[in-house]
Amino acid sequence: MNYDVIVIGGGPSGLMASIAAAEHGAKTMLLEKGHKLGNKLAISGGGRCNVTNRLPQDEVIKHIPGNGRFLYSAFSVFNNYDIIEFFEGMGVALKEEDHGRMFPVSNSAKTVVNALLNKLAELNVEIKLDTPVEAIHYGDQTHTVILKSGAKINTTSVVIAVGGKAVPHTGSTGDGYAWAKKAGHTITELYPTEVALTSNEDFIKQKTLQGLSLRDVSLSVLNERNKTIITHQMDMIFTHFGVSGPAVLRCSQFVVKELMKGRKNVTLLLDTLPDKNEAKLYEELQITIEENPKKALKNILKGIIPERFLTFLLAKNNIDDEQKSANVSKETLRSIVHDMKNFTFIVNGSLPLEKAFVTGGGVSIKEIVPNTMQSKIMDRLYFCGEILDIHGYTGGYNITSALVTGRLAGMNAAYEASYTTGI
Ligand SMILES: Cc1cc2nc3c(=O)[nH]c(=O)nc-3n(C[C@H](O)[C@H](O)[C@H](O)COP(=O)(O)OP(=O)(O)OC[C@H]3O[C@@H](n4cnc5c(N)ncnc54)[C@H](O)[C@@H]3O)c2cc1C
Repeated sequence: MNYDVIVIGGGPSGLMASIAAAEHGAKTMLLEKGHKLGNKLAISGGGRCNVTNRLPQDEVIKHIPGNGRFLYSAFSVFNNYDIIEFFEGMGVALKEEDHGRMFPVSNSAKTVVNALLNKLAELNVEIKLDTPVEAIHYGDQTHTVILKSGAKINTTSVVIAVGGKAVPHTGSTGDGYAWAKKAGHTITELYPTEVALTSNEDFIKQKTLQGLSLRDVSLSVLNERNKTIITHQMDMIFTHFGVSGPAVLRCSQFVVKELMKGRKNVTLLLDTLPDKNEAKLYEELQITIEENPKKALKNILKGIIPERFLTFLLAKNNIDDEQKSANVSKETLRSIVHDMKNFTFIVNGSLPLEKAFVTGGGVSIKEIVPNTMQSKIMDRLYFCGEILDIHGYTGGYNITSALVTGRLAGMNAAYEASYTTGI
């Protein structure tokens, strides 16, 4: 039996590719090694399935710092608003949350995955679960997909949608890179992105701040000359090994890239009061101190920043909890205010790729046609989703990239199969 299109991998990119191929008349088979489809999709957005993001297209692309600009042509065919329409057209009502993130109104990933499964059934896509693919044999007229069981299936076009290497228990174990290499593709260096960072600072080793969450702070990554590479204003948390939370995840790829250049340490700069001007804050505090000279400095500063962080900064500046504000020198007050606005600490690594949310690097986009997701090297071969060297911030951007590239790959795999076989 010969298929027009075989899609390997049942994540968001593969599900969308299968639907698009079948909608364009292709006899389509979807092969998934796990016993469920959309595993990672189901755990995204804290288990509520963050299907896409509603920000304007240019903003979405900005939030995909790993080669997001490559997606401009794909977005002109199918973009984040088309994703919203696609799901709403299948009866999945969506709602917008913070930062433009879109979720099903049901708050259940099942709603999204079931809608995709119903669509696949409606379009007669043949689905094979528990079917790991071992290899692909590329041929002149047909490609042969070789299963781990030894069985072989012929197809005119093949779409590789097996994801990256992050969180491998969901099924994404990086199997597709070898198949891409066999076709002649370059795999750019893989690295963890959207990942927690490790630190050897004493306050981390001594767990002084472990478990402390800071809301809406600004975190910057500094280069070797202490110039800012990137800043993100979001929440963060101190952990037993370093730092994590949304601001850290967004900064992480810039840290990892600095470390990949051979640096052993990278400095992060934390501004706990990003909306306050440092000089103004100092002046305001001086006035409060003049009006309350007998009050302990700690009590004056309480409420401005979280108490645990305040205690830590006071200790750093050799001020004990009882010290009267009038007895604190101007230099010390200046130094405390400076620390509130410019606390620097060193990170020296990240958790491994397996523990990252997203894989950086992958199949080089230079070898992919941007408006079809077709290989420039091998006929009737397509890539989509996280296997490509494209990565975004969490917040629906990776899923958007997976669904958009999946749509194009499936559609064009079907077109190419139709030219080849005349379907
Ligand atoms: C905990 C977590 C939370 C996340 N939250 C967000 C978020 O909020 N926003 C966001 O944008 N992104 C998020 N992401 C990232 C996002 O989920 C992924 O980028 C996206 O799922 C990638 O889609 P994909 O289709 O390329 O690959 P995947 O979803 O990884 O799917 C690949 C599929 O291929 C199958 N497969 C692998 N090898 C084989 C083989 N040999 N044979 C057959 N099948 C195979 C796998 O079993 C898997 O089902 C999150 C990721 C994680 C881990």
